[in-house]
Amino acid sequence: MTSLRLVMVGRLLVVCNCCCNTANERMRGREHFLLSLVMAGGVVICWLVFSYCASVSLNQVHRQVVLNHRLQSKQAQLMEPVRTDVLTVTPWLAPIVWEGTFDPQVIDEAFMSQNLTIATTVFAVGKYTRFLQDFLESAEKHFMVGLDVHYYVFTDRPGNMPDNVTLGVGRLLSIVRVPKFARWQEISLRRMELIQTAIKDHIHRGANYIFCLDVDMRFHSRVGPEALGRLVAAIHPWFYTYPRSQYPYERRTISTAYIPLDQGDFYYQANIFGGALEDVYRLTKTCREHLEVDKSVGVEAVWQEESHLNWYLLRNKPTKLLSPEYVWDDAKERDAKEIKLVRFSSVIKNKAEVRENL
Ligand code: UDP
Ligand code: MN
Repeated sequence: MTSLRLVMVGRLLVVCNCCCNTANERMRGREHFLLSLVMAGGVVICWLVFSYCASVSLNQVHRQVVLNHRLQSKQAQLMEPVRTDVLTVTPWLAPIVWEGTFDPQVIDEAFMSQNLTIATTVFAVGKYTRFLQDFLESAEKHFMVGLDVHYYVFTDRPGNMPDNVTLGVGRLLSIVRVPKFARWQEISLRRMELIQTAIKDHIHRGANYIFCLDVDMRFHSRVGPEALGRLVAAIHPWFYTYPRSQYPYERRTISTAYIPLDQGDFYYQANIFGGALEDVYRLTKTCREHLEVDKSVGVEAVWQEESHLNWYLLRNKPTKLLSPEYVWDDAKERDAKEIKLVRFSSVIKNKAEVRENL
C-alpha cells in the first residue's frame, strides 16, 4: 500500500511537475515574445534615428559642399590672365567667352536661382526638318541645362517633327507654322521678320532671353548661361584670323548692309545670336527693315541676313561675344590650338540635296 501510495504520489508529483513545466514554458514563451517585440521596436527606432541622422548629415555635407565651393572657387589672379593666346575682351569691354575664361559652377550658381526662361527659335523649313532630331536631342544634353527653355520651331511641315525626343523638366516646345518659301534664300531673308513678329506677338510674355539658332547644328559640349547677355553674337569660325578688309561683309554701297573696307570689328556668324528680348527685338526689326529696303531696289546682300546682322553689330556693339567654340563647323579641322573644345557646330550637309528651289 505504502509503496502504491508512493507511486501514486510520485505520479501526482510528475503530473504536477508537468503542469508546472507547461505554465513555465508559456510564461517563458510570453517573455520571449515580449523581449522579441521590444528588440524589434528597438531596431526600428534605431533605424529611424539612424536614417534621420544620416539625412541630416547628408544635408549638412551638401550644404558644406556648396559653401566650400563658394569659398574655394579658384581665386582670380589679376597678374595671371587665364588665357594669353586669345583676346578675351573687346575694345568696348565686352567679354569674349572662351574655355578657361569662366568657372561653370560659379556661373551656374549666379544664374540658376533667377528662374530664367530662354526662348530658342529654330527654323526647319522643307527638308531641314531632318536636322531637328539631333539638334533637339543634343540641345537637351548641353544647351542651358538647368534653365527653362522654350523652343519655337518654325516649320511648314509640323507632321515631320521628331516624336521621340524627350524634353527635360521646365523645357517646352511650340510649333510656329510658316509658309513654304519659293527660294531657300527667302528663309534667310524672312527669318528676321518672323522672329520679330514672334517676339512681339507671344515670346515677350514668356521669356527673359532669346537665342536664334540654325537647325543644321549639333551641340557637343556645354552652352550655358555664360552665353547670356543683352546682345550676344558669335565669331565666325572661318574668318577670325583675317584682316577686316577680307571679311565677307557686303561691299556694294547700294545695299543697306554695306561696310567699307576699313571698318569692322569681327565677322559674326548668323547661326547663333541672341540676348535680352528688347535688344534682339530691335536687332531683328532693323535688319528686317533693311532687308525690305534692299528688296525694294532689287538688291540681296551677299550673305543675306548675316550681312545685315554684321552691319547692325558694327553700330550696336554686342555686350558679349562667343568665341568660335560656340559656332564651329564640322567641315573645319579641330586642330586649332586656341579651340580647347567645340560646343556647337554646323553639321556637314549636301546643300544641293537639302536646299529646295536652288
Ligand atoms: N533653313 C530651312 N530650310 C531651308 C533652308 C534654310 O529651314 O530650306 C533654315 C535652317 O534653320 C538653316 C538656316 O535656315 O539652319 C540657314 O540656312 P543654311 O543652314 O542652309 O545656311 P548655312 O548655315 O549653310 O549658311
Ligand atoms: Mn546652317
